[in-house]
This record gives sequence, structure tokens and C-alpha cells, in this order.
Amino acid sequence: MIVTTQKPLDEVLDFISPYTNILIAGCDGCTQPPRGLREAKTLSQLLELGGKLRNKTFVFKTTTVAKQCDNCLAASILKPQIDGVEAVLSLACGIGVQTLAEIFPELPVFPTQNTHFMGAEEREAAILEVRCDGCGDCLLAVTGGICPVARCSKGLLNGACGGSKEGKCELDPERDCAWNLIYERLKKVGKLELLKEFRPPRDYQLSGWRVTT
Ligand code: SF4
Ligand code: SF4
Repeated sequence: MIVTTQKPLDEVLDFISPYTNILIAGCDGCTQPPRGLREAKTLSQLLELGGKLRNKTFVFKTTTVAKQCDNCLAASILKPQIDGVEAVLSLACGIGVQTLAEIFPELPVFPTQNTHFMGAEEREAAILEVRCDGCGDCLLAVTGGICPVARCSKGLLNGACGGSKEGKCELDPERDCAWNLIYERLKKVGKLELLKEFRPPRDYQLSGWRVTT
């Protein structure tokens, strides 16, 4: 899932202050926590109140899309609702916001979220942890299914750095050392020899490439 947090209300109010008729578009896709229709309506109510404090009246329409990152789907749902709209607020991750900006090149499209990372749920602790940075050259086959790019504080491809203490990262004692996890996992599956393989530096050009799906 993609982890987002709500931007401060004042920041969003600043975005929309020049406009009156605003479409707030939720996304039912992979953002966590959910950012769908219910959250769009809640945000519209909060912004209405915030607007009153600034002597400004907004007119909001609220809607949602199954996946804002699907250009065709988002266009088919949102285009019929865009009449009279002066600006769009997106509750999606940064990808959804950019998709809407492409669909509506003539309209300002603003994010309501800060997008942090792609994470997985640690159910026991009810927290979300970063698990993938979208590096474009997945190493999980040789690192025991544990991502060093996203989970090692230094993003080391040839760890460990030597600073780990009792299985925790030297930069954050709350965090497991990714390379310690990789070692333990490779040991368990009888693949410790993989640690002897040198992994060359990342090719940063692979991150963020356009790909054919
Ligand atoms: S190695 Fe790259 S693609 Fe694979 S999980 Fe880590 S960041 Fe994501
Ligand atoms: S202690 Fe482990 S997780 Fe932390 S920077 Fe070093 S190798 Fe990476």
C-alpha cells in the first residue's frame, strides 16, 4: 500500500483560496489510511469551516475513483463531473494527483496528501513500515525477500555496515537492521553464499522509468 498523511488544512486552504467551485476527488485504490468518498466529504466539511474563518465560501463537489492512477478510469468518472469546477483537490498519492493534472490540463489540481512510501502492515504492532522504494531493479531474489534499498537506513546493497547492535540499526535502535534480517533469512533458507556476491551500485536511471504494462 502507499502511505500518505493529510496535509495541514491551512496549506490546502491556501491552495484553493483563489477558487470557489472545487471538486474533491477521493481514491479507493492503495493509499493507506483510506482516502475515498467518506474522507473526501469529511475534508469538504473541514475546508468549509476553515473557509468561514477566512470569510470565504467554497462550493465543494465530492466524488471518488477506484484508482486515480488509472488515466482512462479516472477520466471516465471525473470528466462528467467537471462542469463549472475551477480547481480539483486530490486525496490520492502523488501518482493520482499527476494523473488528474494530465486529465485536466486546463485546471489547477492540488494534492491534499503528503505521499511517504510504499509499505506493508505489521499487524502485531499496527504500524506501517516502508518496504519498497521503487528502485526499478528488484534485488529481493538475492536478499532473502527483504529489501535493502528501502529497509536499510543507508540503503546499502552490500551490507551490513558493521554498526548494527543486537539486530538493531545503528541509526535507529527502534528499527531492525535490514542486513541482519537478510543474514538470518538467508541462513534459514541455506543461501548464505549469496552474501559473498558483490552487488554493483544502483542504476538510478531505472527508478522512475516509464514502463509498458
Ligand atoms: S529491491 Fe527495489 S524494487 Fe525490490 S523491493 Fe527493494 S526498492 Fe522495491
Ligand atoms: S545497521 Fe543495518 S540497517 Fe542500519 S545502516 Fe547499518 S546495515 Fe543498514
